[in-house]
Amino acid sequence: MKVKNIAIIGGGTAGWLAANHLAVELRADPDIKITVIESPEIGIIGVGEGTVPHIKKSLMKFGISEAELLATCDTTFKKGIKFVDWMTPVATNPDNFYYHPFASPYPAGIDVTSLYLKNAATMHFAEVSEVPVLAEAMRSPKRISSLPYEGAVNYAYHFNAVKFGQLLAKNAREKLHVLHKFATIIDAQLNADGEVAHLVSKEGEQLTYDFYVDCTGFNSLLIGKLFKVPFVDKSSQIFTDTALAVQIPTECQTEIAPYTLAKAHSAGWLWDIPLTKRRGVGFVYSSAHMSESAALENFSSYLKLDVEKLSPRKIPMRMGYREKFWCKNAVALGLAQGFVEPLEATSIFVTDFAAELFARNFSVEKDSMSVAADYCNKVVSYTWERVIDFVQMHYCVSDRQDSEFWRANTNEAKLSDVLAERLAMWKINAPKKPDFFSRFDLFDVDNFLFVLYGMKFKTRSKSMTAYEEQYFVREIEKIKMTGQKLSGELLGHRDWLEKFLAAYTLSLGK
Ligand SMILES: Cc1cc2nc3c(=O)[nH]c(=O)nc-3n(C[C@H](O)[C@H](O)[C@H](O)COP(=O)(O)OP(=O)(O)OC[C@H]3O[C@@H](n4cnc5c(N)ncnc54)[C@H](O)[C@@H]3O)c2cc1C
Repeated sequence: MKVKNIAIIGGGTAGWLAANHLAVELRADPDIKITVIESPEIGIIGVGEGTVPHIKKSLMKFGISEAELLATCDTTFKKGIKFVDWMTPVATNPDNFYYHPFASPYPAGIDVTSLYLKNAATMHFAEVSEVPVLAEAMRSPKRISSLPYEGAVNYAYHFNAVKFGQLLAKNAREKLHVLHKFATIIDAQLNADGEVAHLVSKEGEQLTYDFYVDCTGFNSLLIGKLFKVPFVDKSSQIFTDTALAVQIPTECQTEIAPYTLAKAHSAGWLWDIPLTKRRGVGFVYSSAHMSESAALENFSSYLKLDVEKLSPRKIPMRMGYREKFWCKNAVALGLAQGFVEPLEATSIFVTDFAAELFARNFSVEKDSMSVAADYCNKVVSYTWERVIDFVQMHYCVSDRQDSEFWRANTNEAKLSDVLAERLAMWKINAPKKPDFFSRFDLFDVDNFLFVLYGMKFKTRSKSMTAYEEQYFVREIEKIKMTGQKLSGELLGHRDWLEKFLAAYTLSLGK
């Protein structure tokens, strides 16, 4: 039997990413109809505002212009993440920060980690890239003349999550012929084969499709509630379980940081994401290690205002993922599938990756579907495990011991076998590309090097010949010079965005 009618339940970022991926992959088949069903009553979570560069590939694939993204979603550029206070302060780094830039840790393709390891006490690993210097100087990653989706250095985006969803929806509906229906689903029934038979809307309508994509957020309507797929709980690895989120308008003359700020505190961290007109700020904490009132107090002290007056949204977060995301004729994507706290903006990345994997492996012939389902389930579980390792590493390699939370992260947190083995290996030799033998390690050597050595992880130093050392020093010098040169050439972040928006408005004849 052939699948003809596909329902995607949920109109958040996951639902519309899935709609675009499916519609692009299946566009050659005129029999396929894709419908996004969105509840008019249940809102989207609306806090996913930081991304990683991979999103550019998907947007290009969907045919969304970067200009429209920049003009309609309060978008700003993100060159990476600035981590503050994740380590005990030291004299050589008085401001106590390091960068995880979206850059290669191999300047001109050369592995200079031996030079870093020899000079770890005084050298900052991020010196292997010019991006941190440009980020500190608040420079735009793009030149005025840069082509769409390209820059002088790599970048991702910060955007308004609601507006981003609307942009994805517009593209799916107008360019890819995806249908859109408003309904709140209150029930779903299985047939004798254990497949989803139909959905029932609040108005009592029975909605029958051949295939169902569950993008209902933390509701996890099909994979969680109907199929009852077990949740792989990761709270023994990641202790943060609550977020308080607010939005704060910004002055139009203040410079816009071209990075996400991730500032650690005694029981977690907070994010500060600048958009063109406001900031999205969130306080992430472990409720076992900090009370809500202490969290509000700490949050207020960071913001220098009484945060309770802003009515922060309290969001409980359950760390982990569903054992399977593809069951019979249903797939779960986005928060319905799993979630690890927002550090490193992994959620939209995993959703985008899983949606594309599913769409590419989707078979319209129902009898061959289980083969694709088995394969994709294995891949996505692996992906989640490694993403969770990466997030956990930010906590477990810290030398902070100043609170119960930080002590628990280094002494009590359970490590996956893979992370434990990798960390043991990396005490002897620095991480290298072949350590990441799967392309489903969404975060790989580039990301691990910046975080591990940003946090001064101790690897035995490796000898270099005098020639190698001189050569590496010269490469680092070149990076410094490139950073200074680009810093002089590139516009300030706000300046670039304002010039772009003025030109864009003019081009529309407004
Ligand atoms: C505190 C926090 C911070 C985050 N920050 C980031 C970040 O910086 N970067 C990042 O990549 N990710 C982040 N995320 C994750 C990000 O928010 C999600 O990946 C993203 O928003 C996708 O969510 P979603 O579409 O799965 O769910 P939602 O946005 O919740 O959408 C669910 C949809 O399902 C619909 N729905 C639900 N139930 C029903 C029903 N019964 N009938 C019909 N429709 C229904 C709703 O109407 C809605 O349209 C964060 C998450 C949290 C909790």
